[in-house]
Amino acid sequence: MQLDYFNRLDGVVRSLVEEIEARIGFEITVKLDSASQLPKSSEPRGLRCEVDQYKAEIASASVDYFPDSSVFHELLHIRRFLVDGIPKLTVCEDYEPWTPRLESAILHLDNSLEHLVIIPIELRQFPDRRAYWEKRFEAQTRRLFTGELSETDRRWMASLVSVSVEHLGLGREAREAADIVVQRFGAKSLTRVYQEALAATISSKEHLARATFDCFELPLVATCLEYINTSYGSTQYVPLKEILSSLRS
Ligand SMILES: [Zn+2]
Repeated sequence: MQLDYFNRLDGVVRSLVEEIEARIGFEITVKLDSASQLPKSSEPRGLRCEVDQYKAEIASASVDYFPDSSVFHELLHIRRFLVDGIPKLTVCEDYEPWTPRLESAILHLDNSLEHLVIIPIELRQFPDRRAYWEKRFEAQTRRLFTGELSETDRRWMASLVSVSVEHLGLGREAREAADIVVQRFGAKSLTRVYQEALAATISSKEHLARATFDCFELPLVATCLEYINTSYGSTQYVPLKEILSSLRS
């Protein structure tokens, strides 16, 4: 990592940078990215990261914005994909009716699943971030009432947000907001089924992803698992439908 960024970090975060760089064999780079800035706002949206077999980038909207807790969060994403070999959900390359909307929906879902594992680690290191995540989940919950979503989408998204809030042990307000959308969109029994599926599969990204798609009836044939291998400089795609379903029918 560029020294001017690295030197600003706390010891724990620096160690994680060093650990990851030693394992992947190249440097994590920080880049400025105006897309991380929310329009008409001076508040940075936060950091983002991008990885492939040759790069690990953390993007920030401004040189001044590089807080330990957010950097730690992005590093956990990077470690999962590049060091631990955890696959990322993506649209299969040969999937014909590809749309940017589908691509971003799958990316977004992948991020939500990653957060189920990453946020607990982050909160153990930075307990103060709990308030931030509670706000984020509440905002996400409120968005289910607006936006162009079908009733089916609202239903499974309500389940996902509710199970996530519960799993992460977030506070009362976030839980109440989630309960309201579950009620409103008739997602009570779906939420119970997904709760069980999550508990049974959380230790395996492959099985968690497959269970999520089965439970919510998402486009299974469109989706692949992307495995990034930095030692070989390669990326491998496995169709999600090849992962055995663990959901009882
Ligand atoms: Zn994240």
